[in-house]
Amino acid sequence: MTTPLSLPNNIQIGGNDILLMTGPCSVESYEQTHAVAKSMSALGLHVIRGGAFKPRTSPNAFQGLGLNGLKILRQAADEFGLLVISEALGVEQLPLVAEYSDIIQIGSRNMQHFPLLWAAGEQPKPVLLKRGFMSTIQEWLAAAEHITTRGNQKIILCERGIRGFDPSTRNVLDVNAIAQIKAASHFPIIADPSHATGRADLVFAASRAALAAGADGLLVEVHPNPAAALSDGEQSLPLESLPAFVEDMRRIAVAMGRTLESQVSRLSTQKSGDF
Ligand code: PEP
Ligand code: MN
Repeated sequence: MTTPLSLPNNIQIGGNDILLMTGPCSVESYEQTHAVAKSMSALGLHVIRGGAFKPRTSPNAFQGLGLNGLKILRQAADEFGLLVISEALGVEQLPLVAEYSDIIQIGSRNMQHFPLLWAAGEQPKPVLLKRGFMSTIQEWLAAAEHITTRGNQKIILCERGIRGFDPSTRNVLDVNAIAQIKAASHFPIIADPSHATGRADLVFAASRAALAAGADGLLVEVHPNPAAALSDGEQSLPLESLPAFVEDMRRIAVAMGRTLESQVSRLSTQKSGDF
């Protein structure tokens, strides 16, 4: 049975309402981030994501804007009253990310980075703990316990796909895991259909499956111009598809006896030209 977790601005995750967290893989510029925040605000979305410190497979790939990225993200979020989620790659960055973010993301590659888990456990901000892409559910829950035993009970789990054998998708969304976590854990669980598929054309379908399996929310990459994105453009939804995405998720939420709260009411009052 999930215990709902309270976030700032009277937002809750793990209750009846589904929480959609959206934003670019990487913060690239003020203009890019502002455009995303503006569209999100028009739809009544509450939590913007964006990486400032990026865990890239290659050291030659874009590594993120660092502190400047955090500042841009916070500024754009504050203009529209949004909450911020951003990733801390290491212990030394944690205080900085905590200062600028409302939720601290711990990435898939860091799920068993124990000193980072301990540091996250010793500070007060909520932590989104992504599943390691080769980790079992037991290992994932044990990692969460490393955080809670240090004092911080504010955990959100995120299923972001596990490594499979078929190269046609980046990872495999483990829908089983969502249902299992719902039954076995009291932490809210969300899904990341972007990294789970690696393909924008599969994000709607994977998101539907995740919500149908009981997910409490989604973490979805969107970009004003995916073709020009500095990271993960191939899996990012174009910003103009965000209204259709929210409406699609609203229908699944309703089918599951849940809601999409303010996202719905704002959607119905917006003209399409406002996005
Ligand atoms: C991300 O959210 O951009 C990210 C790097 O995710 P993951 O840790 O799941 O690969
Ligand atoms: Mn990404």
